[in-house]
Amino acid sequence: MANQVRDVVIMGTGPAGLTAAIYTGRTNLKPLVIDGVQPGGQLMITSEIENFPGFPSGIRGPELMEKFREQAARFDVEFALGNVREVDLSRKPFCLYLDDEREVLTRSLIIATGANARWLGLQSEEQYRGRGVSACATCDGFFFRDSEVFVIGGGDTAMEEALFLTRFARHVTVVHRRNEFRASKIMSLRAEKNEKISVELNQVVEEILGDGQKVTGIRLKNVVSGESNTHSCDGVFIAIGHSPNSGLFEGQLDIDEYGYIETAGSSSVTSVQGVFACGDVQDYTYRQAITAAGSGCKAALDAERYLESIR
Ligand code: NAP
Repeated sequence: MANQVRDVVIMGTGPAGLTAAIYTGRTNLKPLVIDGVQPGGQLMITSEIENFPGFPSGIRGPELMEKFREQAARFDVEFALGNVREVDLSRKPFCLYLDDEREVLTRSLIIATGANARWLGLQSEEQYRGRGVSACATCDGFFFRDSEVFVIGGGDTAMEEALFLTRFARHVTVVHRRNEFRASKIMSLRAEKNEKISVELNQVVEEILGDGQKVTGIRLKNVVSGESNTHSCDGVFIAIGHSPNSGLFEGQLDIDEYGYIETAGSSSVTSVQGVFACGDVQDYTYRQAITAAGSGCKAALDAERYLESIR
């Protein structure tokens, strides 16, 4: 692997990375696609997707990603299991160092490393993670049959998690720190109309309570009155958004104050020639599977043009 200089390496196998793989594979660039820590990306922990065009009855996240991968595999795409631990973008060809000490050299790089769930940062949240605290209803909802659960957050993810959890839980409480949801109207209305869901506004989580083994309750503080209240519950789902996976590129690429890789205009072109970024690691605004896929296509076309220009 070390001796061969690739035309294009793609980091990440979510909708952005795999779309870039389909496009660069079809143009015979023989891309190497490095899976990363979460092969398939965030859709692997997403339940039903109703808004991805082409699937009128909806499709489950993992099934959609399987289809992306199958489609990429039809072309000359090589997949490498593993994770990149370091990159050197100061030299050409660029060099990537993988966890297992392999080195990969490439003339162009497409970064599609996505984003990860954010946590509140409470010690009790950490203590009970996997024992009642979760950031993924799709993965863990099943364990909360006939339970009382709380979902923290006011965006679309929180609404989606809450709605999904009503399939299992007896009752779901959505806790939001302001008096107005950030979520889209359709999603908030759907949650508010669901009789298994109730809402606590202007509340922050002070503590997640437990018996040492599992979650038994939650203490919320009303940010307007300053009053704290304890509620019994079996599970707490944290749904407060995501952080872009851009840490590897700090100091080498321009990154904005929120950690998103900066790209020029509406392109995928980063501050280093030959390096392109697409999907959630670069997109603060839309962050949808379909926009990630679209930006993966742009990155592939930008990389093709760049390679053409240096030949
Ligand atoms: P988001 O829109 O950034 O919302 C995060 C929510 O968590 C906000 O309500 C925020 O409160 C709250 N929050 C953040 N940090 C917090 C903290 N430390 N303590 C308490 N609350 C905190 O993130 P998201 O919901 O993950 O959505 C991201 C993007 O994906 C959006 O564009 C969304 O539309 C999209 N999405 C779409 C779907 C769908 O269409 N099916 C599903 C999921 C996500 P504030 O409002 O006060 O900032």
